[in-house]
Amino acid sequence: MDLSVGLGTDVGRMRSSNEDSLFADANRDRGLFIVADGMGGHAAGEVASAMAVEIITHDISLADPVEGGNARETMGRALRHANSAIYRRTVEEVEKQGMGTTASVLFLADDRFVIGHIGDSRIYRLRGEEFTQLTKDHSYVQEQVDAGLLTPEQARVHPYSNVITRCVGATADVEPEVSDGEFKEGDLFLLASDGLTAMLDDRRIEQILRTPLSPSRLVAKLISEANARGGVDNITAVVVHVAGPSSPAVLTQPTPVPDVAGRG
Ligand code: CA
Repeated sequence: MDLSVGLGTDVGRMRSSNEDSLFADANRDRGLFIVADGMGGHAAGEVASAMAVEIITHDISLADPVEGGNARETMGRALRHANSAIYRRTVEEVEKQGMGTTASVLFLADDRFVIGHIGDSRIYRLRGEEFTQLTKDHSYVQEQVDAGLLTPEQARVHPYSNVITRCVGATADVEPEVSDGEFKEGDLFLLASDGLTAMLDDRRIEQILRTPLSPSRLVAKLISEANARGGVDNITAVVVHVAGPSSPAVLTQPTPVPDVAGRG
């Protein structure tokens, strides 16, 4: 398994602090990638997203080997653990009341991926001609889309587009969405906070991901374009490329993967 990774986070052009957190770690056997988008205001949102990253990486790193059905269980348990720990702090510390975070987690091992997801950060996969959103937003506007009341494009620019219906830390327990599947050489994964996906529609994101650039250059391009279109929120992106002969569209320049937790 040869993973090439780019990652970046940016405060954007309107906010004074960055409440997003991210994590990326890859070696020949496995890869773990997380985007978490905190909420609750300065000194709370960034605490929630950093706690989620820390707990999830810890729990998943401990579970070894993480294979087959176990990986799904481990993923669900890690997200629940993050939820209960963050929720406890919102109860115990007055200034942390109302804090919470999204969490979108991608774990790669052998030829399998496992995704754990809560909230409206997203994981996409580019595979050949297909560009697929692998997570489903837990949001008010997504429910409206499901009910046929909004189109995805109306949802993207809706005034309530940032209202989420599931959140890490908001309640004593939470139901994580866990999915898995096979990945292949040539696959390109994108994890992103809504500061990216609110500024760029899926078509534009796909266009950018199809440009022949290294993952770090792709991340830089995504972030700069989100800023050029307003940068109204913190912008975070992680691009993971499974290098292989079937991926001529992407230059496989190896990218050093910093061990980033927190605001990067
Ligand atoms: Ca956000």
